[in-house]
Amino acid sequence: MRLSQMLFVTLREDPAEAEIPSHKLLLRAGYIRRVGSGIYAYLPLMWRVLQKVSQIVREEMDAAGAQECLLPQIQPAELWQESGRWDTYTQAEGIMFALQDRQDRELGLGPTHEEVITAIARDMIRSYRQLPINLYQIQTKFRDEIRPRFGLMRGREFIMKDAYSFSADEADLKAIYSKMHNAYCNILGRCGLAYRAVDADSGAIGGSGSQEFMVLAEAGEDEVLYTEDGNYAANVEKAVSLPADAQPSAFKALEKKETPGTDTIAKLCDCLQCSPTQVVKTVLYEAVYDNGQTILALVSLRGDQAVNEVKLQNELVKLGEGVKGKALIALNVAEAETKWASQPLPLGYIAPDLADSYIQKSKQVYGQFVRLVDQTAVDLKNFVTGANEVGFHQVGVNWKTDIPLPKQVVDIRTALVGDRAVHDPKQTLQTARGIEIGHIFQLGTKYSQALGATYTNEAGKEQPLVMGCYGVGVSRLAQAAVEQSYDDNGMVWPVAIAPYQAIVIIPNGKDSAQVEAAEQLYSELNAAGIETLLDDRTERAGVKFKDADLIGIPYRIVTGRSLKEGKVELVERATHAAHQIALDQVLPTLKEYIAQAISA
Ligand code: ATP
Ligand code: MG
Repeated sequence: MRLSQMLFVTLREDPAEAEIPSHKLLLRAGYIRRVGSGIYAYLPLMWRVLQKVSQIVREEMDAAGAQECLLPQIQPAELWQESGRWDTYTQAEGIMFALQDRQDRELGLGPTHEEVITAIARDMIRSYRQLPINLYQIQTKFRDEIRPRFGLMRGREFIMKDAYSFSADEADLKAIYSKMHNAYCNILGRCGLAYRAVDADSGAIGGSGSQEFMVLAEAGEDEVLYTEDGNYAANVEKAVSLPADAQPSAFKALEKKETPGTDTIAKLCDCLQCSPTQVVKTVLYEAVYDNGQTILALVSLRGDQAVNEVKLQNELVKLGEGVKGKALIALNVAEAETKWASQPLPLGYIAPDLADSYIQKSKQVYGQFVRLVDQTAVDLKNFVTGANEVGFHQVGVNWKTDIPLPKQVVDIRTALVGDRAVHDPKQTLQTARGIEIGHIFQLGTKYSQALGATYTNEAGKEQPLVMGCYGVGVSRLAQAAVEQSYDDNGMVWPVAIAPYQAIVIIPNGKDSAQVEAAEQLYSELNAAGIETLLDDRTERAGVKFKDADLIGIPYRIVTGRSLKEGKVELVERATHAAHQIALDQVLPTLKEYIAQAISA
């Protein structure tokens, strides 16, 4: 491709709308253009990158035994009602774009395809002889994200590869899952990305497991906790750890103490001269379900620990399960919420046994607190906790004798950097930022049961299909590659997914020898299958060099001064290493570089 014939517009300045380097660079270099909030045009250079990523994904999916298909993006509401997800996906913070057709039928734009694929499996899979089946597609997804940002990282329209597997049993699911895991490692490796596979939250579905593939980068929205020995890595949403030891309590006897103005743990510890590890704090949450019901939860944990809201949400979803139409749609810290209280709450001084009579009788609000306690709090003796009275705490408190231990003992704390690891307490958790580019998931039978997708096993018995699902954010991955690899001058594409592998620059378009050599190289390289750009614009040499660096083409060939000796300059974008190479050696040299880079 000749730059003189391309829609090629670069910007000198960073666009105001972009916050992170990859977003700025993609805009500046003319790869993408914003059309609306979270909505982007993929311009020719970007489209080439996306097609390369897609091709790598496709090859690895095919190699793993998955088959490509293409499912509809417009999906009937009925399918989502059958799975029970229509309300959670369209109400409150739901992310599905919903619409009505001319006959007033409700439809959604596909944010994901479990429902559609399970309905197809229900119709087409009858017997164990047809299993296993693994189908994938590469397609645009629509999600009305609450906070679209960072360009392609969190768009409202983006490209995803999603795959869905159907197996006869768990063992077979695990075999496919492990193949897909390998395929994902291959995809990331081939795209030239540094990544980590981490244990992930599987939501309330439970299932036997799920992992996310994180591209490591400062701008990542996710926090990963891992150990140096390489044996543990998890999203902080899911991570477990051993908390720091609690300090023994100085309080020996149960006593109510006046502690004015101590509505935070820090102030309380200051006042009582105690450690936060001796305190049982209780946080109040309000969970709203889609049938309008509200449940109030009192969550008790050790004073130095923080609630992990993802873990809490999973516990609360489980509570709603089995009740038809009861799906959790919002979770709020209820401290400021007094609309349901029968009398002013002793906020900051609440104990785990706060009386249910604080809840005003109403149809919407469940009349008893759901009481959850984290193991960190269960282990404490002679601890400090609120007295359910503003300005007062109790010290020397013990479970059972002084205060009933909540029935539900759950892991609800946030694991922290520096905590000891569960698998080996000598290892401490380290932290890193990651961009989630893939998620693989052992779904089990949640969707097959909901939609009645069954098969007949060898014994002639009808069984629900055992499912897995596997996603890769293709457009997010492409931007993540930039986020992981750029310098002051611009992007540095990994060779395997660069839009072009080489760019030939004519420093002076008036010098016919330069033009001739460049034209010849341009044809020769392209003919040999090296995707090459030619900068034949009437720009100054400096501008051309700057642009080549900005768009991040791996190899730059300049037909400059050394032409007199029959040589050109070949510069590697990543290292700036420059080589003088004889004209007839350019092709073999580039071939070797590219082969090396792609196999590395
Ligand atoms: P996130 O937590 O980042 O919102 P998710 O858990 O909703 O992701 P999945 O539903 O598992 O994501 O989708 C599979 C993959 O699609 C993700 O791993 C991610 O790479 C990509 N993805 C999800 N949402 C977006 C988005 N809004 N824009 C771009 N890519 C996305
Ligand atoms: Mg999401």
